Amino acid sequence: MSDTKKTLTILHLYPRDMNIYGDYGNILVLKQRAKWHGYKPEIIEYNPGDNFPKNVDIVVGGGGQDSGQDKIQADLHKIGPTLQKLANSDTPMLVICGLYQLFGQFFQTQDKHIIKGIGILDIETIAKSERLIGNVTIRSKQFGDVIGYENHSGQTFLNEGAKPLGTVIRGTGNNSKDMTEGACTNNVIGSYLHGSLLPKNPKIADWLIEQAATKKYGSFKPGNIDDSLVPLAREHAMKRPR
Ligand code: GLN
Repeated sequence: MSDTKKTLTILHLYPRDMNIYGDYGNILVLKQRAKWHGYKPEIIEYNPGDNFPKNVDIVVGGGGQDSGQDKIQADLHKIGPTLQKLANSDTPMLVICGLYQLFGQFFQTQDKHIIKGIGILDIETIAKSERLIGNVTIRSKQFGDVIGYENHSGQTFLNEGAKPLGTVIRGTGNNSKDMTEGACTNNVIGSYLHGSLLPKNPKIADWLIEQAATKKYGSFKPGNIDDSLVPLAREHAMKRPR
């Protein structure tokens, strides 16, 4: 029976070097919710030097130390054009913190060293001496209140081609100036929110799955999922001290 299920291939970018503060939880949530929606999830881990798979339905990447970002930079530029093509054809993607920054134009580290990004998101990031750390809540038009955890030195500013994911209610978000958090273009979402993000915000997980399923199979019919614990988890996370 399960062999007849429709496959959704989730590409996990750089799990070895870019995967901190619970980001792996995003993969687990997508895998489980894809199953609950009636699909057969296939997770492919991609690390530097690997062959880029032919069929990819969702791309997910996490955060990392500056050193991790340095390590993957050359490989990211190698697969950048392929990722850009996927983004142009509306493949859903979720990239957190370190990879969010590198999906942008560049990240200038504290010692003024530039790590070039692949420019899928029209954003620029410059590290400041103060790290931005703590629990965050943002308000997003598309997803309602989104809850997560941030820990970054980079401050990100959006250029014209990118729209913020939401407005900060608590915490800092992209930078200490404009109250924005995250950036979106086509079906690509970049965000500073670790935590992990998707267990507390399953609407975003379902949106990613819906985009992928609709693109691949022409339609999406949500499964009947018991989400009764989600409000409790969200409430608890929202009340935690900054
Ligand atoms: N190294 C980057 C910064 O400090 C990203 C950090 C992260 O992914 N949490 O801004």
